[in-house]
Amino acid sequence: MRAQVLVGAHVVATALPPINDKGGCGIAAPLRLEAIALTDDAKVTLMPAAIMRASLASALAAWVRDDLAPAIAPGDRLASIEGTGAYECRSRDRITGAKLSEHATGNALDLDAFRTENGKLFAVASSKDDSNEVKTFRALMKKTACLRFATVLGPGADLYHEGHLHIDLAVRRNNMHLCQWDVGDARLIRRP
Ligand SMILES: [Zn+2]
Repeated sequence: MRAQVLVGAHVVATALPPINDKGGCGIAAPLRLEAIALTDDAKVTLMPAAIMRASLASALAAWVRDDLAPAIAPGDRLASIEGTGAYECRSRDRITGAKLSEHATGNALDLDAFRTENGKLFAVASSKDDSNEVKTFRALMKKTACLRFATVLGPGADLYHEGHLHIDLAVRRNNMHLCQWDVGDARLIRRP
């Protein structure tokens, strides 16, 4: 099947046949998301392509297009999302007997970093060598992801998320959002 741009959804994706795996895992209308189309038609490639529901693909596309891409300095642009993973038939945090993960229904995405065309890396995990630009972008990632997604778990949330970011569209009572990612916001507060 050839990848196609889904008009209106701003994604380059291939529609796959329904997935019905054991234990309640599966997606009725899965997509293999290969890239997100930016407003100027440049593509942000998922490395690797990830299988997910269309609703997650379009939420991800809106986040990248509307919140993240405009924050990149002129002369450069977002080129890829690295360490991506979505559909996987497993329990939460891979703990046997735990509740089914949102990944098991294609409703969650993990990622490690964004990379720009000029090779700039915006990693989810912080390092002591991070530039102010990297710190600012990471803070923006957290702030905007926490508005768009039901769950945001990054480094500092727990041991399972030390190196990557987990975002999902879990349905909770009262539409409650869970936003746990230590991006060092406290250090950005100006001292008196
Ligand atoms: Zn995850």
